[in-house]
Amino acid sequence: MTRRIGLLGGTFDPIHIGHLRAALEVAEQFALDELRLIPSARPPHRGAPQVSAEARLDMARLAVQGVAPLTVDDRELRRDRPSWTIETLESLRGELGAEVRLFLLLGWDAFCGLPGWHRWEELLEHCHILVLQRPDADSDAPETLRNLLAARSVADPRSLDGPAGQIAFVWQMPLAVSATQLRERLAAGRSIRFLVPDAVLAYIHAHGLYRATPSTQE
Ligand code: ATP
Repeated sequence: MTRRIGLLGGTFDPIHIGHLRAALEVAEQFALDELRLIPSARPPHRGAPQVSAEARLDMARLAVQGVAPLTVDDRELRRDRPSWTIETLESLRGELGAEVRLFLLLGWDAFCGLPGWHRWEELLEHCHILVLQRPDADSDAPETLRNLLAARSVADPRSLDGPAGQIAFVWQMPLAVSATQLRERLAAGRSIRFLVPDAVLAYIHAHGLYRATPSTQE
């Protein structure tokens, strides 16, 4: 049987139930052998993450502990360059071979930003793209993506075929949570319990992460 591997990149600053539920539901829906969370080092499309790469990696690892088939892949943190997704895909293909089916998960917001990505037109040579619904995103697809969608999208995600090349929309349980909201809550001294796994919450508190003014919040 051809292996089926899902990929979810992100800053995971911090990882939360929106990422984790989406990953798990896609893994179930597409009978994936593995779904890799790939924390990005220096995200080319946005500002610097608020905490270190090491802390974001630790939190991602804690979040997936014992949750097969979710795993964490740290290759982008081992690269001393911006985290270009196309290079991650090339490196994965080099390791996993041409046959394996790769599914790149992108939230709707990330998908709409695709035309700004380095060598974005080559992405589909290496993977299928699964676009995740996000309840807080209601924009139309940008003009540049319309032709691509017309040529490559399939109406039924179950009909995705071959190792790469198609786009499907995936509907999972809507969870309108974002890392930005969580950072704001933490900075305001409010609880984020149940929005991240308990082990992640314990790590955040143990390392004093995301506090606005550490000295005043003890
Ligand atoms: P921030 O608020 O810092 O921008 P974020 O919560 O959007 O962070 P990222 O690490 O940027 O998280 O997201 C990684 C990927 O997960 C992106 O493709 C994003 O669209 C998707 N994603 C994030 N939150 C959700 C959610 N609640 N539901 C579905 N997909 C999500």
